[in-house]
Order: sequence, then C-alpha cells, then structure tokens
Amino acid sequence: MAWRSSGTSNESLVANLARNGLITDNRVKEAMMKVDRAHYAPSSAYEDSPQPIGHRATISAPHMHASACETLLPHLTPGARVLDVGSGSGYLTAVLANLVGPSGTVIGIDHIQPLVDMAAHNMAKSEEGRKMLDSGQVKFVKGDGRKGWPEAAPYDAIHVGAAAAEHHQALADQLKAPGRMFVPVEEGHMQHIYVVDKKEDGSVEKKKLYGVQYVPLTDAPPE
Ligand code: SAH
Repeated sequence: MAWRSSGTSNESLVANLARNGLITDNRVKEAMMKVDRAHYAPSSAYEDSPQPIGHRATISAPHMHASACETLLPHLTPGARVLDVGSGSGYLTAVLANLVGPSGTVIGIDHIQPLVDMAAHNMAKSEEGRKMLDSGQVKFVKGDGRKGWPEAAPYDAIHVGAAAAEHHQALADQLKAPGRMFVPVEEGHMQHIYVVDKKEDGSVEKKKLYGVQYVPLTDAPPE
C-alpha cells in the first residue's frame, strides 16, 4: 500500500489512508490528523512505510498504526486505560491518547532508555503533547514489555508494537474483561497479527488476522 497512501503532509497522508480504505473510522482519522508524524519519524515522515529511529527500532508504517487503532477501537472509549508495548518513537502512544481523551491513560513501555526519552521528547514538540505528559494522561516507562506494566493494569486495550515469540500470559492477564490486545506473534519464519479478546466472563479468544513484518520483542540489549 506504500505507493498509494503516501502524502506530502500529515493531512494528505491521513486523507490518503482514509481514501484507500485503510482508515474507515472518523475517530481514528481525527486522532491521526492531530499527531504530526514528522515529530516522530526522523525521515520520510509522510510516506506510508516504516522508518528507522535508531537502536534497531523502526516507527511502524502509518497503515499498520491505522489498523491497530481500528482493531482496538471498540475498547478505546473516552477514559479507557491503554498499554502500548514497544512504544519506540511514541507516535502510536500519542494517537491512542487522542482516542481515549483527557480522562483516559496511556502507558508507553520500551526496554531501551534512550527510546523512552525520545518518545517523551517527540511528544513534547506539540503543545497538546506537553499537556498530555504534564497531566499524566501519557506516561513513558522503561521495562520488559513482555511482562506488561502491572502498576497501571488492568487495561481496556493493549497494543504490542514488536513481534512476540509466543503469546505472553502476563499481557493477557493484564487485560480487563472485556478487553482487547493487538499483537504480532512469530510463527516459524512468519509473523501474524493476532487479536486477543478477553470476554466479560474472563474467557480468552485469539483470532489470527494477517501476515506482517515487525522487529522482534527481545531481551534488552546490554547497556
Ligand atoms: N510502536 C513503535 C514501534 C517501535 S519498534 C513505533 O511505531 O514507533 C519496536 C519497539 O519495541 C522498539 O522500540 C524496541 O526497543 C521495543 N522492544 C523490543 N523488545 C522489547 C521488550 N521486551 N520490552 C519493551 N520494548 C521492547
């Protein structure tokens, strides 16, 4: 899709994603309009492709961020609590914060301290982002995202931005009932997006969506 949805500004990128059916919901469109991807992607910010952000990490492609938001949307209600695992650039954390609004909370967790700092720095480039950090609506923390972030659990929605080697139980445990997780999972040489739904009765259902290519969810590199 990269060649079809790229734009020359944040507005045209998001408008092209919507025109191509990669964004179908107006709430997602508005939330992505409000976050300038150039504050988070050091190069080719308005291309519909992933970009390197250093530390072997990438900011995911806009159509993947859109898909994650659309998939989690029923649980991204105003006031919802969200965990963004492998928050990297902080871009999606900011979009998620726009979706849950000022009464919601979004925790971005990454295991590389310079990326935790970079995410907060990127978000502080806009006045709206600074407000979200100051109020505690958005918090970036350092930790092993495979274990979730129990301090702020349970979560209405969990987004995982790196491919997991397995379905990590700790993450499913930290979902509310009902709650939903969007997670890329490695299967042999392939990776697939899974939607993990915890239903009201606490039962968990996993649905495989489509094949993807994410950087892996790993042990932290030596400091
Ligand atoms: N959503 C981010 C994706 C960044 S790439 C964005 O679009 O900008 C994946 C991120 O996962 C990297 O920043 C990497 O440091 C982080 N990561 C990998 N393994 C991790 C782990 N075990 N715990 C927390 N973060 C991890």
